Amino acid sequence: RCFANQHAHKLLNAFVGAAKDVALFQHELQAANERSKEGRAKSPIDGHLIAIKDNICTTGEPTTCASAILEGFHSPYPATVVEKLKGTGALIIGKTNLDEFGMGSHSTNSIYGPVKNIYTQDGDHLSAGGSSGGSAVAVATGQCDAALGTDTGGSVRLPAAYTGIVGFKPSYGLVSRWGVVAYANSLDTVGVLAKDSSVARSVFNVINGHDPRDPTSLSTSTRSRIEKYVIDRSAKHLWGASPLLRIGVPIEYNTEELQPTVKEAWLGTLQRLQQLGHTIHILSLPATKMALSAYYVLAPAEASSNLAKYDGVRYGNKSAEREGTDNVLYAATRGSGLGEEVKRRILLGSYSLSAAAIDNYFIKAQKVRRLVQRDFNNAFALSHPLLDEQAISSTEDKVDIILTPTAQSMPPKLDDLDTADPLEAYKADVMTVPASLAGLPAMSVPVSEEPSIGMQIIAQYGDDDLIFDFAQIIE
Ligand code: GLN
Repeated sequence: RCFANQHAHKLLNAFVGAAKDVALFQHELQAANERSKEGRAKSPIDGHLIAIKDNICTTGEPTTCASAILEGFHSPYPATVVEKLKGTGALIIGKTNLDEFGMGSHSTNSIYGPVKNIYTQDGDHLSAGGSSGGSAVAVATGQCDAALGTDTGGSVRLPAAYTGIVGFKPSYGLVSRWGVVAYANSLDTVGVLAKDSSVARSVFNVINGHDPRDPTSLSTSTRSRIEKYVIDRSAKHLWGASPLLRIGVPIEYNTEELQPTVKEAWLGTLQRLQQLGHTIHILSLPATKMALSAYYVLAPAEASSNLAKYDGVRYGNKSAEREGTDNVLYAATRGSGLGEEVKRRILLGSYSLSAAAIDNYFIKAQKVRRLVQRDFNNAFALSHPLLDEQAISSTEDKVDIILTPTAQSMPPKLDDLDTADPLEAYKADVMTVPASLAGLPAMSVPVSEEPSIGMQIIAQYGDDDLIFDFAQIIE
């Protein structure tokens, strides 16, 4: 681990406040070292340094979501994921910077100022991606072994791709969201960022599990049903002895906007896989084209409801203007406490849920979400374990895994973002939102460091382990 360059790291603004000095953990690290030497490590991540995105509650320090409305907010309890990590000997080194409430693609919508990528171009810092950009840079600079992020529409995968590390978003419902500040709860997941997939896997194994406090957390019986189903498939399938996979390449991801360097990296990865004996299958996921628009209707709609509680009374810092009616207090509190992008989403969401617009926007977007799910189900050999019980349908034209780029283009320069239209930032999510809408596990794996290019692996619901196995082949 390289902790030498702490000053330079600070300038990248990955942490909210400062990362804890590693010296503070000297005793714990020594103890963990001894435990590991004696073969009694608490877990594979005993003594690992982990950073936590600042929209995940911890009790030692504030949890602010990079928002003025929550500045100085101390959660009375820690998130389940944080508790789980601590129980396995991991050491929490600090909270990381993000886009306010997770809304953004470049980690620039923050009261703490933008996160800067470790990579520069012509002397200018590039975007670290968002919204878990702080977590990504904390890992990329070696300030921690792994970091937790949240991924609603790509916020773990995009920063991972932009900073040259691994970013994993699990199947929806596997990892508890208790103590994770909601952005769009039907899409929100807690993900892991790490230098390589084996560390990410160890962290995921610790945080994966049923939590009775999260109503969307999968029950233990459903988990064992999924496990059995996936194992049955593996037994019937070719692999085991000879782990050859059928890899799907969706034509819709070969967009006009796909930058040539990204396309080359995609083709290069596919060629490598082919040389190893895996087979490549071109397929179509027709609803992909509508996924981004549907996402930007659904996510703001849920956000407008989730963020209604920050009114200065139930939650959040009260504005000083307390005179007058309740409406004045609410308006003043929300007007000064929430950032531009958050306000834009609340307005968009309130509009698409309004009586005049709901049929044309919200309901249509829900239908598109179903179509996106159906597309993926048609593509995978493994059927969706929660939707039906049938085993593998004919594997002839079906695939085990899908491989696409994580982003259409290289990270933009931070300076160029100032003038960019907000729609440009939305477009950065075009490759990542389909898996989010379908609740599928997905991972960004770096295939090139400078420039930093990530490939996205998508698998059927519950097939998270296959993603980790496959990542080891391409990383
Ligand atoms: N960029 C997307 C958005 O702003 C994704 C955010 C996320 O996954 N938290 O909604």
